[in-house]
Amino acid sequence: MDFEERHQCKPAQRGHVYAFAPTFQDGSTLRVHLRNISAICLALQIFVADVTAQDNSKPRGLAAADLAIVNATVLQCDAQMHQSDAVAVRGGRIIAIGGNAVAAVIGDSTNVIDAQGQCITPGLTDSHLHFVGLGQALQMLDLSTATQWEDIVQQVKAAAGELPPGTWIEGRGWHQSKWSKLPPGDVDGYPVHQRLSDLVPDHPVLLTHASGHACFANAAAMRLARVTNGTRDPRGGEILRDADGEAIGVFRENAQSLIRRAKARSDSRSSGTAREAALRKQIELAGAECLKHGITSVHDAGSSFALASMMKEMAEADELPLRIVMMIRTGFDELNGRLSQESRIATDGNWFTVRSVKVSIDGALGPHGAWLLLPYEDLPTTSGLNTVPLDELRRIAQLCKRAGWQLCVHAIGDRANQEVLDIYEEVLGDSAGDDHRWRIEHAQHLEASDIPRFGELGVIPAMQANHCTSDAIFVAQRLGQRRAQAGAYVWRSLIDTGAIIPNGTDAPVEKVNPRVSLYASVTRQLANGQQFYPKQCMTRAEALLSYTLWPAIAGFQERSLGSIELSKRADLVMWDRNLLTCPAEDLLTAEVVKTILDGKVVYQADVQ
Ligand SMILES: [Zn+2]
Repeated sequence: MDFEERHQCKPAQRGHVYAFAPTFQDGSTLRVHLRNISAICLALQIFVADVTAQDNSKPRGLAAADLAIVNATVLQCDAQMHQSDAVAVRGGRIIAIGGNAVAAVIGDSTNVIDAQGQCITPGLTDSHLHFVGLGQALQMLDLSTATQWEDIVQQVKAAAGELPPGTWIEGRGWHQSKWSKLPPGDVDGYPVHQRLSDLVPDHPVLLTHASGHACFANAAAMRLARVTNGTRDPRGGEILRDADGEAIGVFRENAQSLIRRAKARSDSRSSGTAREAALRKQIELAGAECLKHGITSVHDAGSSFALASMMKEMAEADELPLRIVMMIRTGFDELNGRLSQESRIATDGNWFTVRSVKVSIDGALGPHGAWLLLPYEDLPTTSGLNTVPLDELRRIAQLCKRAGWQLCVHAIGDRANQEVLDIYEEVLGDSAGDDHRWRIEHAQHLEASDIPRFGELGVIPAMQANHCTSDAIFVAQRLGQRRAQAGAYVWRSLIDTGAIIPNGTDAPVEKVNPRVSLYASVTRQLANGQQFYPKQCMTRAEALLSYTLWPAIAGFQERSLGSIELSKRADLVMWDRNLLTCPAEDLLTAEVVKTILDGKVVYQADVQ
């Protein structure tokens, strides 16, 4: 079934713009105001068309556009997936769509870009990532391509040459099984620290294993961590030692915290100004990385009030690299008394928004942490972990409801999802049909009877399609075929219940590259070529909406963002191929030609 067929089935009842909004029980606020927006848009479109009819060369009644993109394939990503051939922008907003209307607003001062047929989409939104974490990850050395330990030693040595002594050097992604030869003097295949410690004596070094389950430290780091031959293994962890009982520099599982705490102690000794400078650098790096991939908005999945106030100031000083919606992540005690209508943040121009709370109630499926209704198939002694008590979640939910804040709960296992849906239903009670837009982050594994509840309650499953194809390899192992088929990443079933799915990557857990999630959304194809229950694929149009209009709705921003419609903010991406019609494999290699944020070109690919 193609997009039109799938979504035009009940046009009379569902109107048009909100065909993708959550199905509320009572003809709710969201529907009503989306209907109003579409009426306003229509009126504006007619206004622009009138101007066009009067004079094709010079705008009359309208000032000239700052920017016009002509000769393009514009995928508007509004609810009907309209297409047009041109778009014009003034003052950061879209003022005309379509060749005639755009021609009418081109003046002497207009920067006209001839797209030569290339594809324009709205700026993409990653609806679940960790923004500062992404910046931090980008500051670390990428050790994943090393073919032997000596490569890593040289990478660290080069980095040390650029940094003042005493500065920590961090890296990530090393994996001894990827190396072509054993490190000299290895212990169980792991490297020993002496050579690196000799070459880099004055900089503490912390290198995280690709799995995240171990790290490597040099002598300087171990000194700061006060690790000696006498240090005992912490519970749930192991300090790897040589035959003489000396720590070789590798710390498994909980033993990593010895080194990580030492790093945290060093960080906390730096001045407030130095810490803020470091944060700003991370924000800058993460922003540049997103813009390079066509991402103009992000939903940050959980940060502190302190970071929120710093980012608010940055937004007001016009210093944020892109648009950020931040969820606040903290316990009930800190939230209590701080949540109110007034304490929500919405800076001018949609640059920075805070109006949601993030809670995490279980772990991940890989390490058997996702909270399940029945035990793990491959580890029947456990059904996973409940990480925040349900009563605390209930109290936070009540607080959010009273204060008019959105709630976004991380839930991966079917038990976790069911408990969250139960609490949402209980707390929202009769008002479940109102415009709460509460979300479940990940919503990866669902009990079949819980699937329709998303549509019924208007709960938004915020899912990262890249997790599906990277985890698929062990999903059936952990859950068994029946549970995997019935409830794993059931995008098709969820959308068919009326739910919208804002997409993303969970960076830096995975790379922020949206192409991987777009491709996974429409193919569910693993690296080994297998498809993971392909009946649950999204259509191509749905995949595009999951990165554009649906995140805007999930962030309460569909009046201003998410689609190419008149008067919306001019966040646009030019691609080297048509994302709606290119072969699915081409989604992985599609190149961003330009990223335009608020009407300004903020990223431009190198011209070959
Ligand atoms: Zn996350």
